[in-house]
Amino acid sequence: MIVVLRSDVTEEQIQHIIEKAEGLGLKAHISRGVERSIIGFIGPEDVLRVTPLEIFPGVETVLPVLAPYKLVSREFQKESSEIRIKDGITIGGRKIALIAGPCSIENRASLMKTAKEVKKAGASILRGGAFKPRTSPYDFQGLGEEGLKIMKDVGDETGLATITEVVDTRHVELMDRYVDIYQVGARNMQNFSLLREIGKTKKPVVLKRGMSATIKEWLMCGEYILSEGNPHVIFCERGIRTFETETRNTLDINAVPVVKEKSYLPIIVDPSHASGRWGLVSSISKAAIAAGADGLMIEVHHNPEEAKSDGAQSLLPEKFEQLVKELKLVAQAVGRKVA
Ligand code: PEP
Ligand code: MN
Repeated sequence: MIVVLRSDVTEEQIQHIIEKAEGLGLKAHISRGVERSIIGFIGPEDVLRVTPLEIFPGVETVLPVLAPYKLVSREFQKESSEIRIKDGITIGGRKIALIAGPCSIENRASLMKTAKEVKKAGASILRGGAFKPRTSPYDFQGLGEEGLKIMKDVGDETGLATITEVVDTRHVELMDRYVDIYQVGARNMQNFSLLREIGKTKKPVVLKRGMSATIKEWLMCGEYILSEGNPHVIFCERGIRTFETETRNTLDINAVPVVKEKSYLPIIVDPSHASGRWGLVSSISKAAIAAGADGLMIEVHHNPEEAKSDGAQSLLPEKFEQLVKELKLVAQAVGRKVA
């Protein structure tokens, strides 16, 4: 339920309302807006039949949230949020965030080479997996902690922010030290213990859509993270399973405006996993920006033929550079900005 506070509410009144509600077993999440502040309360709402929150000074109205997801809902926060990654780098807001890099971290020299090239082209965030969730246990599984060290090193040297996938609750703390953004992969979207563990941190998290997940299920997974106290969630549409076999997955372009309508949190698109083919990445990236996506996560490799994973969907750096130039025009047409 959402408690809308009066514009003249005092800090003491806010604290009093929170204390009362917490005493009833509800958890408070406050959102301070320019004109109005609101408090979202999560928990057993039936206790409010005995002590209705309307009676407290400073409360204007109490509204039920009808959607099953509460804290990620646009009913909870009207203004779209802009998530700060590090100095000068954000996701959400007018500027389109460009995340690029190889599927996996392979070695320092290779990551550095690709990182410098994507930065030159306009990317601000470097991607690369250290723990790879592969469909086959015999495929390359990633460099593990060694990969995280390489990622940190390359991020520090180039000034790029970094993102890597976390696949295990036991790695959450370890990764906190090495990277700027956690990535939860499609295969782990509903790994609730992982979501809760990430929710206990303050680090931004890109939450990919599960390959057979509905938008509602995906938003509920965001709710798991926010309900633990971490509000820095970015949704990522990466294609879903359909009957179509021509492409690796089917990009659900509808997901972009739907998530924008239902939530105030940013949504980005991963055209690489959505298509599985580098030749399609440019077209669907433009479609994503035109549809309102807040950013793109694109696999780029300086030598895709030799890539240890996902070479077939990786762009060469020069193709990425060309794409960024073309994206500028699309972004401008929809009132956004690239790089
Ligand atoms: C990846 O980003 O390399 C990846 C494994 O993505 P997904 O979880 O979307 O399959
Ligand atoms: Mn990949």
